[in-house]
Amino acid sequence: MGTAASPFLNPIADELEGVGPTKPTAEALSRRARQRRQVQGMIGISYVVDALLLLVYAHAGTIPATIGPAFAICGLISVAGYILLSEIGFTERFRDHYFVMPQVIASMAIMLAFTYIAPEVGVMFLCTLFVVFNFSSLRSTPLQTAVVWTAMAFGLAWLFLLTDKPISMPHANYLERFATMTVFVLTIGRCMFLGIFSSTMRQTLYKNGLELKEAYKRIEELAALDELTGSFNRRCIMRMLDDEITRTQRTKATCSIALIDLDWFKRINDTYGHPTGDEVLRTFAITVFANIRNIDRFGRYGGEEFLLVLPDTPGDTAMRLLDRLRAIIADLDWSAFSPGMQVTVSAGVTTLRPDETADTFLARADCALYAAKARGRNRIVSA
Ligand code: GH3
Ligand code: MG
Ligand code: MG
Repeated sequence: MGTAASPFLNPIADELEGVGPTKPTAEALSRRARQRRQVQGMIGISYVVDALLLLVYAHAGTIPATIGPAFAICGLISVAGYILLSEIGFTERFRDHYFVMPQVIASMAIMLAFTYIAPEVGVMFLCTLFVVFNFSSLRSTPLQTAVVWTAMAFGLAWLFLLTDKPISMPHANYLERFATMTVFVLTIGRCMFLGIFSSTMRQTLYKNGLELKEAYKRIEELAALDELTGSFNRRCIMRMLDDEITRTQRTKATCSIALIDLDWFKRINDTYGHPTGDEVLRTFAITVFANIRNIDRFGRYGGEEFLLVLPDTPGDTAMRLLDRLRAIIADLDWSAFSPGMQVTVSAGVTTLRPDETADTFLARADCALYAAKARGRNRIVSA
């Protein structure tokens, strides 16, 4: 049954490997063929082990010596048949490329037939039937499992009710007791293996689920951020603004925003180069992040213009916060980028009016920003 994350026990791995609309890659196909060989190998070994036990029963005088070899031959012929179908790629045409259903039906037929032929050791075949059912249910749909169970019930009804075979659990002498004990030990051991594999599968699926969740969260975060500054991108900050307006209007709270624009930024680019301009934008963003509250939302509105959303903040508080930010930016030692460099910002601040939309809210902030520029820059104007 292969490795811990065995695709035999992991139908989702098959889905991801392209059973369905997308074609599986050559690598996936060869991995699946290898997995099928492993599964068939395990089933083959199982038949051989049971055949050896039948030889022990034969040695004890319970059954004829031919039963063991006949059982092994039947089992190995069915295994060889599936390996052949798998190797020529026939099984790949089916969604159930492990051919679980046909194999279960064949195993069931073999077990019932041998219980009929050698009822003296019936308990052994019936135990194996039990394992076969367990094995198949790991890979089957609930409907398939129900069908297999029904077929088994009919088979057993035929065996127990329509024949008078003395289906037995041999224990007359020491060797028989030993063989029967081994039958139970092996059956419980096989169930244990299936249990271990299914719990490993559950753990693997759980781990995959967590990893997917993490990856999805990371993708969402990346999709929300502006690559250069690490602030929210325009789409995201606009959505946050809409949400904040709705929340503020619902709770009758106050909300202010600020449109912040770097002064003479074109000149900074022209004088110091575009890469330095990028560094200035990054440093500006980091400085803002360091001086706002957790609940504030800061995003790039476009170019060198940023939007700061300040929930639960009245206009005068917003003005004070923005003026403090403005002073911090102006007082930063920008000469680290280039001797003599000076960076300042201007901002327009507005507070939400009742029943106002994002458009008019932003338009008023834009007007205030325009006024700040007109009045000489490096200043904050309230709408
Ligand atoms: P004002 O004080 O009136 O705002 O003048 P300004 O020069 O800042 O305004 P303007 O809109 O004329 O120029 C903005 C400049 O910002 C032009 C553009 O090249 C630059 N810019 C926009 N996005 C980026 C960016 O991502 N990186 C860099 N380095 N520059 C950018
Ligand atoms: Mg500017
Ligand atoms: Mg601008």
